[in-house]
Amino acid sequence: MNRKLFVLSMISAAVILPQLSASAQQQDFSKVEIKATKVSGNIYMLEGQGGNIAASIGEDGIVIVDDEFAPLAEKIQAALKNLNITDKPVRFVINTHYHGDHTGGNPPFANSGSTIIAQDNVRKRLITGGVAGNGGSIKMENKPAEKSALPIITFEHDVTVHLNGEDIRALHFPAGHTDGDAIIFFPKNNVVHMGDDFVRYGFPFIDVASGGSVQGMTEGLEKAIAQLPADVKVIPGHGAISNLDDVRAYIKMLKETTDVVQKAIAAHKTLDQMKQEKILAPWAKWSGDFVNADTFIETLYNSLTGHPGQFVKHN
Ligand SMILES: [Zn+2]
Repeated sequence: MNRKLFVLSMISAAVILPQLSASAQQQDFSKVEIKATKVSGNIYMLEGQGGNIAASIGEDGIVIVDDEFAPLAEKIQAALKNLNITDKPVRFVINTHYHGDHTGGNPPFANSGSTIIAQDNVRKRLITGGVAGNGGSIKMENKPAEKSALPIITFEHDVTVHLNGEDIRALHFPAGHTDGDAIIFFPKNNVVHMGDDFVRYGFPFIDVASGGSVQGMTEGLEKAIAQLPADVKVIPGHGAISNLDDVRAYIKMLKETTDVVQKAIAAHKTLDQMKQEKILAPWAKWSGDFVNADTFIETLYNSLTGHPGQFVKHN
C-alpha cells in the first residue's frame, strides 16, 4: 500500500522518484481493480490505486471527489455504472489537491464531459508543474499538466455544488498537505472527504515544497472537525473509512511530534542529531514505508524552520 502511494504522481505527471522509479515503471494499471463501498446514503467510496474517490450518485447524475490515475478512468466509470443507480454521467470532479494520484484522471474525465473544480492553487500548480516534497528526502518532479487536466472552475475559499438533493461543499484549508487543499463536505449524508490532510498510512507526507505545513494541517483539521457531527463518516485521502476519533488521534500525533521537534530546534539541535537521537521513537507505530520517522523529522523541521507556508486566514 505504501509503495502504491509512492507511485502517486509518477504516472500522471511523469514524476521522478529516484529510489522507487524502477518499481513505478513496473506499475501495471491493467491489474488494478476498482472497489466501490457504500459509505452512507448515496455516497460511495471507490478504491483502486492512488487517492480515495468519493462519489455522490443520484437522480441528477454523479459528482466525484478526486480521480486517481488516467489509465483507471474507464474502470472508475464502469464501477460507477455497475452500482446500477444512474446512467447519468459524472458531471463534476472536485480535486482535493493537485497531486497526480488525485488528479491524474482529470483529462479522461474532462474529455468525456465532466467539469473539473478545484481550489485556485491546484490549477496554478498543475499549469506550472514543479517540485513536490518535504524539503528533504522526498522529492518529486511534476511536469506541467496538459490543458484537459486543468480545473475549469476554481475557487479561493469555498464552492458549493447543489446536486442530488445535497449541498456538496468544498472548503479550502490553506497550507496543510499543500497550499491548495480542499475538504469536501456532504452534509445531508453526513460524510466528509478530507483529502491528504488526513491519511491512514502513518506519518503523513506534507508537501512543504508546495506550500504545505504541519501547522496548517493541524489547524485545518481542528477547524474541520469543529464543524462536523460526532458520527460523521470520514473518507481519508488514503486508507479505510474512518471516524472522528481516528482524526483526533492523528491530530494528537501531529501536535505531539511538532512539539518535540520544536523543542529540539529551540535547543539548537541539528536535523542529524534529531534523527540520531530518534526523537520520534515514542510515535514509532506511525512510522511507515512512505514516511518513516526520519522522513517525518525532516518534514517537521523544514515545516517549522524554512517553509512556514503561506497562511491565508480566511477559514
Ligand atoms: Zn497528496
